[in-house]
Amino acid sequence: MHDSVGRCSLCGRLVLGLAGQDWCVLPWMLDAGADDAEVRPGPCHALCLQELGVAGVWAAAVEGYHCSRWPDWISGLDAGVRWRLHRSPQARRFHLWRADGRLSSFPYAAARQHPAAVTTDLAEMGSRYAEVLLAAMGTDGAGIEVPLPSLVAALALTDRYPGISGSITHRLTNVGTAHRPELIDFLVARHPLALDSGCRTAAYELIRRPV
Ligand SMILES: [Zn+2]
Repeated sequence: MHDSVGRCSLCGRLVLGLAGQDWCVLPWMLDAGADDAEVRPGPCHALCLQELGVAGVWAAAVEGYHCSRWPDWISGLDAGVRWRLHRSPQARRFHLWRADGRLSSFPYAAARQHPAAVTTDLAEMGSRYAEVLLAAMGTDGAGIEVPLPSLVAALALTDRYPGISGSITHRLTNVGTAHRPELIDFLVARHPLALDSGCRTAAYELIRRPV
């Protein structure tokens, strides 16, 4: 959950927190990665890491973590970029590691859709971040789907999210339990997940693979 407005540690602009597009650099990754004074802990655009020429270094810094944390995976190549799709059977989630830094985490259900798509909770209504997003949406948003390209353009972020598609809208999310529901109003993004055909095939195989 974002209570504050996340800004990119490299370009200073808003980070939406979209799977495969954004990344949060953690302090231990700085220890494991290159000694580059320009990179600091915090959210950043994967594209900014790529433009700085350190995306591969950061991906390498978390490669070992992925392999030890989720030791069941299938690997492949997407246009020359190495990837490794790890599964977490307990959480029914995938953790996609890519050598170009476009890491993402998504539920099994996302890979079953055509095209693969994810839903991301961006901001809780009433938070400062939600106010910024609502202003860019140009509506109070209730029940209205605003295209993500429009939102990104209004935030002057088109160059950070080139080719983005999908939408943003309100959604009530239960953060409690089935017995004691606690509904919170979130601004939610729904957007395609860039998975090549080999990665999709791997996802189907991992879903069926015995635990
Ligand atoms: Zn940036």
